[in-house]
Amino acid sequence: MPELHVRLEKKMQRILTIVITSGLLSGFCHLSATPIPPSQLDRELVQVVRRTEQTEAVLERVHFALSKMPESIKEKLRQRQIHFVITPTQAEIGNQEGGCGFYPKYRRIVVPETIRGKPIQLARLPIITLHEAGHAYDSIVKGSQNPVFQAAYLSEAGQIPKEMRQTFKHFLQEGNKGPVECFASLFARKYWRDPDALLDALEKHFPQSYRFVQELESTPGNAGQLTAPEAYESDSVKAEQVGGGNRNSPVPHLDVRHTKVDKVLHFATQHYK
Ligand SMILES: [Zn+2]
Repeated sequence: MPELHVRLEKKMQRILTIVITSGLLSGFCHLSATPIPPSQLDRELVQVVRRTEQTEAVLERVHFALSKMPESIKEKLRQRQIHFVITPTQAEIGNQEGGCGFYPKYRRIVVPETIRGKPIQLARLPIITLHEAGHAYDSIVKGSQNPVFQAAYLSEAGQIPKEMRQTFKHFLQEGNKGPVECFASLFARKYWRDPDALLDALEKHFPQSYRFVQELESTPGNAGQLTAPEAYESDSVKAEQVGGGNRNSPVPHLDVRHTKVDKVLHFATQHYK
């Protein structure tokens, strides 16, 4: 009888193990197969030019990036009629072929599903999306132009060790490009807290610049004080085309075609290979 008891006990343990394991697996599958549904605001902020087989996966990654950002920032983008536009390719909306980019004149963050014939890499797309959102946010608050940020950036950029300069070349570009790109990626770092080699290194080597970006949205109204409204008007709102359109319409202004010169802020895709 004791033997039978032991056998039964072992059988019960096996059944229990199978039940727990399958439960955990289905839990994981559930997590990966069913992402958190995007909020109403997240849906409003994203437009799709034309659906392809890739669109759903790209859309999910963009919505995932948006889920990382606070409502206050997304509300600022919405108020400025800035949208994330997913397109099969940059060429399809009249742009030069290439990766993701922020187009201030048209108030768009363009996310192409395919770059020069290759599908966009989905793994790092949320970080790239946050980087481009950082450019859009910067166009509103002028954070990269703020004297406090500029001083921190210049001091820290000057101290980058020689062996790191190649890694950071995107952030050490001459003129205004360096601080603008640095600001955008520090913005991405702020909202992307998972390990990422480049963002980890950037945070480490630009601590004061990062602190500035961190504190920007933490104090209500702080961002608004950083820039005079006319500064924003001068480079974005004066665009002669109707950049915003009707935000209730799924694709309100895709008749507006970009040209090479409109793309004043560079894309991050090559940098993030
Ligand atoms: Zn950039």
